[in-house]
Amino acid sequence: MIPYGRQEITQDDIEAVVEVLQSDFLTQGPKVFAFESAVSKHVGAKHALAMNSATSALHVACLALGLKQGDILWTSPVTFVASANCGLYCGAQADFVDIDKNTYNISIDALKAKLELAQTTNTLPKILVAVHLCGQPCEMEEIFNLSRKYGFSVIEDASHAIGGKYKDDYIGSCAYSDITIFSFHPVKIITTAEGGMALTNNEDLHKKMDLLRSHGITRDPEMMTQEPDGPWYYQQINLGFNYRMTELQAALGISQMTRLNVFIEKRHYLASRYNELLANLPIILPWQHPDSYSGLHLYVIRLKLKDISKTHLEVFKELREKGIGVNLHYIPVHLQPYYQQFGFKYGDFPNAEKYYAEAISLPMFHGMTEEQQDQVIRILASVLI
Ligand SMILES: *Cc1c(COP(=O)(O)O)cnc(C)c1O
Repeated sequence: MIPYGRQEITQDDIEAVVEVLQSDFLTQGPKVFAFESAVSKHVGAKHALAMNSATSALHVACLALGLKQGDILWTSPVTFVASANCGLYCGAQADFVDIDKNTYNISIDALKAKLELAQTTNTLPKILVAVHLCGQPCEMEEIFNLSRKYGFSVIEDASHAIGGKYKDDYIGSCAYSDITIFSFHPVKIITTAEGGMALTNNEDLHKKMDLLRSHGITRDPEMMTQEPDGPWYYQQINLGFNYRMTELQAALGISQMTRLNVFIEKRHYLASRYNELLANLPIILPWQHPDSYSGLHLYVIRLKLKDISKTHLEVFKELREKGIGVNLHYIPVHLQPYYQQFGFKYGDFPNAEKYYAEAISLPMFHGMTEEQQDQVIRILASVLI
């Protein structure tokens, strides 16, 4: 089976991890801080905090922005559940904004319309989680302007998007957001096995998230309510968690970061080959907004079902049977059973639902060979025609 995504682990990666095993620090220490500074330098953000997953980073980002019971978080329905769950963790409600037909990211028109309505009903969001689906950035300048007009905070869920750019800035620079989140799960662009990171230019948010990732405990006398009792002293000044990244993970992350540009270039090469060689099939190819340089975590095609004699399910199953490890990103979150209890139902976000009925993620990963890609293309053509 040719998988839809696969990590690349080199001998250098392995040696970096083994070296940590023989060192004095196994969790949050010098490697974690070096990984944070490698990422923040690359993307141009002031602060970076590594955590044990993007989900953890989304949770503390919401808490640092003050999300609580009675508040509302908005995100895209076409995302991994974590982009919405982070709001529920804080006792807030989650709601969704339908996607754009071309980018599959949050539609700016739908967002404007929903904000106007929410203002009249007093249901404006406290936070918008903008998901850069497949690595393609959302229209961040428009989102930023709307956040100023309506007074909400912006988190970029850039789990798919490290290494990409929006206009002239690397994703993660937070030029148009309060906080950006990366994921280092093995299927993502670079990996630390499990892992995530929160980036921000705001010193206050940085301090809050730093506390929250480690029990709400500080050893900084300036943050304490009294003089330290002695050299052992620390204070818990907030209710935090254990969301720390290990040194092993960070060492892997540092080693992977040195190949980030190579990974992105290979993904662009594979995507442009797909674009060229799939052009005559009855499918919609991924459209790229001119302001975007995508991280290209995923290559998603949509079936033109009117021009194909098979159903979406039949095409998907046949591809899997023939050894092509296709996938579907994502089942719209509002259709998940857990979300139905909040009153969401089929029909709420028609563009997201139509996308779900037609989308297929084709294999794309750094180690993919041209032969493997040709095999995907050949089999896809044979299934569709
Ligand atoms: C993978 C992913 C997450 C969660 O990442 P973890 O590191 O596995 O917690 C969140 N949002 C999106 C869009 C993702 O793809």
